[in-house]
Amino acid sequence: MEWAQLVYSKDTQVNISSEFSIIKKYLSGIGTSYLNTNGIDLSIGDDCAVLAKNSRLLISTDTSVVGLHFLKSMSSDAIAYRSVAIALSDIAAMGGQPVAFNLSLVMPNFNSEWMKGFRKGLQKISREFKLPLIGGDLVKGPLQISVTVLGIPGKNILLRSGAQDGDILCLSDALGFGYLGLRAFKRNSLLNSKTKPYLFPKAQISYGLAISNIASSAIDISDGLFQDLSHLILGSGVGCNLDLAKVPIADKKYPKQCLEFGDDYQILYTVSPNKLKTLQANLKSIRKKCHTIGVMSGKNLKINNNNLGFLKNWDHFK
Ligand code: ADP
Ligand code: MG
Repeated sequence: MEWAQLVYSKDTQVNISSEFSIIKKYLSGIGTSYLNTNGIDLSIGDDCAVLAKNSRLLISTDTSVVGLHFLKSMSSDAIAYRSVAIALSDIAAMGGQPVAFNLSLVMPNFNSEWMKGFRKGLQKISREFKLPLIGGDLVKGPLQISVTVLGIPGKNILLRSGAQDGDILCLSDALGFGYLGLRAFKRNSLLNSKTKPYLFPKAQISYGLAISNIASSAIDISDGLFQDLSHLILGSGVGCNLDLAKVPIADKKYPKQCLEFGDDYQILYTVSPNKLKTLQANLKSIRKKCHTIGVMSGKNLKINNNNLGFLKNWDHFK
């Protein structure tokens, strides 16, 4: 009896029961209608979820930390949505279809209004991509959200290493809306058409699926064009001649920031020139475009043919 009292102190009991009631009330039942079709046998409630998949799986985790990847002043529905969208972007870049996600939530205290908003954000993205939340963890600490997404490959798995000499470098859409969105949010912290791309970024899942059997390589742009393009170049072992004037940006007043800030989650990819027409037709059917911004060639990154010195003047655009 004495040891039992020691182990099961009142505090511990309170913690355990509140953790369970938070999970039950705010984190359960999200996307349950997609469990069957997505091949999930068992979701939240036991030690593990169970997947019945007879296929290869794509798995990726992304962690969002307060003050680093999002601001404390952001509404909790945006914080939740954004954390999942960022993780989904990796599935998009591999040309996959997401089937479920896990979510580890670390938060300093419990606030029912905040949790309600958080649930709302999870439900929004769950509905949008038809995917259930199948498990996770709940821990006390500085606010941070870690999301693991599971996906099944599209017709082909797009790697960073597949670009070939002569391939065309393409971009799914303009860069810089994330930068402009954060900038606008810092000024007025409202949800409007300017701040929305930062608060609720769109994972390019349908785009990734549409190019999955045609593109030769792909990566999502989370850290800015040059950073992620260099991953593609290093991964594939082929250089690139980037035509900077062709890169669509959100605001010509801030070219450097639009290109380098990141947080856009567009897809950067390559395609063989003889497949470009088919690719464009595929994208047209989902009302998307392919922006051709360069050619893979040589061993290094060249900008506007060889003018890397151009970058020295780059800061003047600030
Ligand atoms: P364990 O102690 O066995 O790891 P937990 O008590 O942490 O289990 O969680 C109980 C159940 O609730 C598990 O099925 C777990 O996946 C789920 N769960 C915990 N935290 C979350 C969360 N943040 N989001 C979704 N499900 C969660
Ligand atoms: Mg646990």
